[in-house]
Amino acid sequence: MSQNHCSFCGKNKKDVELLISGVEAHICDKCVIQANQILNEEAKIKTGKPKSSSSNFKLLKPIEIKTHLDEYVIGQDEAKKVLSVAVYNHYKRLSQHNIESDNDVVIEKSNIVMVGETGTGKTYLARTIAKILDVPFCIADATVFTEAGYVGEDVESILTRLLQASDYDVEAAQKGIVYIDEIDKIARKSDNPSITRDVSGEGVQQALLKLLEGSMVNVPPQGGRKHPDQKMIQVNTENILFICGGAFEGISRVIKSRLNTRPIGFADQEEQDLYTTNFIQYVTSQDLKNFGLIPELIGRLPVITHLNPLDESALRKILIEPKNAVIKQYSKLFKMEGVALHFEPDAIDFIVEKALQLNLGARGLRSICEAIMTDLMFELPSLKEMNEYIITKTYTEEKFSKSKYSKLKVA
Ligand code: ADP
Repeated sequence: MSQNHCSFCGKNKKDVELLISGVEAHICDKCVIQANQILNEEAKIKTGKPKSSSSNFKLLKPIEIKTHLDEYVIGQDEAKKVLSVAVYNHYKRLSQHNIESDNDVVIEKSNIVMVGETGTGKTYLARTIAKILDVPFCIADATVFTEAGYVGEDVESILTRLLQASDYDVEAAQKGIVYIDEIDKIARKSDNPSITRDVSGEGVQQALLKLLEGSMVNVPPQGGRKHPDQKMIQVNTENILFICGGAFEGISRVIKSRLNTRPIGFADQEEQDLYTTNFIQYVTSQDLKNFGLIPELIGRLPVITHLNPLDESALRKILIEPKNAVIKQYSKLFKMEGVALHFEPDAIDFIVEKALQLNLGARGLRSICEAIMTDLMFELPSLKEMNEYIITKTYTEEKFSKSKYSKLKVA
C-alpha cells in the first residue's frame, strides 16, 4: 500500500480528514474510530461493561449523595442538599434520554450557582460530587476568558479541559461536570451596558450562554485560541452539568437592601447588621442580577445555593474530622516514617484561631499547618530512633511566629 492510503480501508489521503503513519502502515481517522468501537464491543462482551467506565456514571439517590459528601465536607448542609437533588435530577434526566419519552414534558438542565466566601468549600463540593459519581470533572476560572477576538482564552477551552479529564472520550465528557470559579468576577461593572465595551464582563457572560444552555460546540483539542488549521472536536454540552461559584463580595449589601430590614438613617447599625447577619443565606436570582450577572445567564443557572462562612467550630472539625482531614494527612505521612504523630488539643485551638484571623476560610488551615510542620518534615526522615512526636501549643506558637503568616494583619 502506498504512503498515501489508509492500510485498513484503502482510502486515499485526500479523501480522509487525517492519515496517521506507523512504521509500515497508515490509518485514517475513520478507521481509528471504528477500531475504538470494536475494542469497546469486545470489552463489553468480556466484562459486561464498556471499556470506558467513565461514561457509565453511578446514579446515586440524593440522600446517598449527601451522605457521601458528609464524609468529606463539613457543614454546608443546605448547599449539600440542593446540590444532591440538582445532580440527581440532572443525571435522571440524562438516563431518561435512553428510555422512550412518554410525553412532551422536557426536564430542563439544572445548572447550579453557588455563592459563598472564599475557602468555604465551593470547589471542594463540586469536585467531591464528580468523584462520587465517577464522571469527568474540570475546573475553569471565569476570569481568564474573554469574548472571541480579544486576547485571552475562548470559553470553548473549558471543554478542552473536560475532554482532557476524560482522556478524550467525547461520550464521557458529554456527561461530565464543569466547575466555573469566580463567576462573580465577570459581572457587569456598570448598570449601563452601552457606555463602554466591557471586554471582560458582559461579553464573556454572553459567550458562556451557548455552553450552558446545551449546544454543539467546536472544541480545540489542545486548547488555546481557535486556529483555522486546528482540527476541532464536536462536543454536545446538553448533558454537561455546569456548576458556577463565586464569593460575590459585597452581595450581602445587595441582599440587605432588597430585604430592606431597617429604616434608612441608622448607618452604624446597618454596618453592624452586615457583620453579624449571614445575609448570603437569603440570596436569590434577583440579587445576582443586581450584582451584575445578565438575566440570560441567570436564566441558565436555575439552581442557586449558598455556602456559610466557616466559624471556629467548623474550622476545628475540618482540621480533624473529614476522611482526608489535614491532620490525618500529616499523621499518615509520619506513620510512613514509622512515627506516631499527635497534636495536643490546645495546639489545634491555636491553629484554628490563627486560621480564623487569616480570613481565608479552610484554605488558611492548610497554609498555617504547612508553616508549622515544614521544619519537622524536613528533619524527621533523618532522625533515628524516633517513634512518637507530640505537637504542643508551644511548638506551634514558636513555628508560627517565625512564619510569614505571623506578619499578616489580623482581618
Ligand atoms: P472555595 O469556596 O474558595 O472554592 P475550596 O473548596 O477550594 O474553596 O476550599 C479550599 C480547601 O479547603 C478545600 O480543598 C478543602 O480541603 C478545604 N475546605 C473548604 N471548605 C471545607 C468544608 N466545608 N469541609 C471540609 N473541607 C473544606
